[in-house]
Amino acid sequence: MIERKPFRHKKNLGQNFLADRNILRKIVERAAPAAGDVILEVGSGQGVLTRELLASPCTFLFSMEIDRGLEPFLSDISLLHPGRFCLIWGDALEADYSLLSPAPSKVVANIPYNITTPLLWKLLETLPSAGYFLLMVQKESAERITAPPSTKERYPLGVTLELTGSARKVLNVPPAAFRPVPAVHSCLLEITLGKEHRELATDGSWRGMLRSGFAQRRKKLLNNLKTFREDIPWPEVFAELGIGKNARAEELSAEKWLALHQKIKK
Ligand code: SAM
Repeated sequence: MIERKPFRHKKNLGQNFLADRNILRKIVERAAPAAGDVILEVGSGQGVLTRELLASPCTFLFSMEIDRGLEPFLSDISLLHPGRFCLIWGDALEADYSLLSPAPSKVVANIPYNITTPLLWKLLETLPSAGYFLLMVQKESAERITAPPSTKERYPLGVTLELTGSARKVLNVPPAAFRPVPAVHSCLLEITLGKEHRELATDGSWRGMLRSGFAQRRKKLLNNLKTFREDIPWPEVFAELGIGKNARAEELSAEKWLALHQKIKK
């Protein structure tokens, strides 16, 4: 038996653990893990969601955690679920998820909120086997990821996800559901991805174009893109695609971004 020292939550690692069993149950119900499902959890914490997922009929669960101080809370799980569970110690942003075997088909996690955007890019880049993500994120992140065109929250990851699949907010979760109680509200976000346009996440010219396009939001898109590729006759390309010369990045539909990208790839 490993002696548990009092645990000090690390704010910089987003350690707000789920304490509301009703929410936990709703997460697992929504994810509906079935036999054959291989799940990845990012941020094991003290293992509450980990154990709930393993109580489902899922075939295999990987759980990744950076903080070794949580080991006493997690060390018995492999013994309780031999052949169904693998705990990975490390930084979720440094992982190459394509190396996981069996390949995960679902990601179900209460993720560290401060790494939401880079983590999602990383998962899109290196986990093509996963078509379903159910993630607890900060409410503002859920709003950005699902923001439609012509809203100030619109940003590159949301545009990319829109082309690859769909993202929707399924449940607002109050701060009281976590310990320690965070200062922010949370939201359960569901992302379903198809096979189409999956390559965009690893396409440097796509990522670069969006990054430059959204870089200075107060500037016109045309001017932002000129700094990205000087060799492209942007005003002509805009006219051909029916994009107004005064358009801002957030106004473009995902399809227009794709059409712009096809022009610059030629
Ligand atoms: N799943 C647990 C729960 O629901 O109670 C914990 C969720 S807590 C919001 C996020 C967890 O992610 C923390 O345990 C934290 O230590 C871990 N974490 C933070 N940054 C990480 C990183 N870069 N890689 C892996 N885990 C990380």
